[in-house]
Amino acid sequence: MVRAEQVTKRFGAVEVLKGIDLTVAAGEVACLLGPSGSGKSTFLRCVNHLERIDGGQLAVDGELVGYRRQGDRLHELKAREVAVRRRDIGMVFQRFNLFPHLTALGNVTEAPVRVLRTPRERAREEALRLLERVGLADRAHNYPSQLSGGQQQRVAIARALAMRPKLMLFDEPTSALDPELVGEVLDVMKGLAADGMTMVVVTHEMGFAREVADQVAFLDDGVVVETGPPDEVLGRPRHERTRAFLDKVL
Ligand code: ATP
Ligand code: MG
Repeated sequence: MVRAEQVTKRFGAVEVLKGIDLTVAAGEVACLLGPSGSGKSTFLRCVNHLERIDGGQLAVDGELVGYRRQGDRLHELKAREVAVRRRDIGMVFQRFNLFPHLTALGNVTEAPVRVLRTPRERAREEALRLLERVGLADRAHNYPSQLSGGQQQRVAIARALAMRPKLMLFDEPTSALDPELVGEVLDVMKGLAADGMTMVVVTHEMGFAREVADQVAFLDDGVVVETGPPDEVLGRPRHERTRAFLDKVL
């Protein structure tokens, strides 16, 4: 579903991604770990067409991010085509970014109605199903300001799912939450994983990584230092940099 080969990304003179290699199969959950500034968020933003890569190849669901193949030529996508590709990828950030003037239900129906032209009544039914799936059926008519951080984050997940994405990207979805609210969001993510959603999750939640991830990738200084099943990378890291990082966070 995601294939990154030697992906590089520069901001001005600073190379932030220095050759990322990562493959995430359909239905797989990959957790990205690594120190602050290692490039985790930048990589996710590249996958979601929010940043252009400078080198290497990045493909989502077999299509090159930012390009369209025609015969053996590559054409750069226009903004409109990028927007169409981005619909297939849901993203949930550290901050919930809900529309403050819309209810939970309004937040979840907005994109399907506007972008996919789903009839409002159908979008509402679907949204109510999604809110139920994230445990918020009784909060459909609340505004974000009336919801806890954990509830807002669950609405954000429902909102992303409303676009029926093929791939979900999470960038530290629980790190802005009070500790007692982390579990309810992780539980929703576990449910998604169990339903077979392909997910790339940047997280510091080692318990989640150990329990849910098929693959744990450790990033440092713009490269994937090592990747593998959680019991290997977390339990028997092969690289000194991974060990040093895990010693600090575990
Ligand atoms: P954290 O764990 O703190 O979220 P991260 O691994 O997500 O860190 P990134 O946010 O990807 O790290 O940042 C990687 C590097 O790229 C950092 O040195 C950061 O300062 C730099 N960077 C990120 N975005 C930009 C930008 N738009 N312009 C310039 N530099 C940037
Ligand atoms: Mg980040």
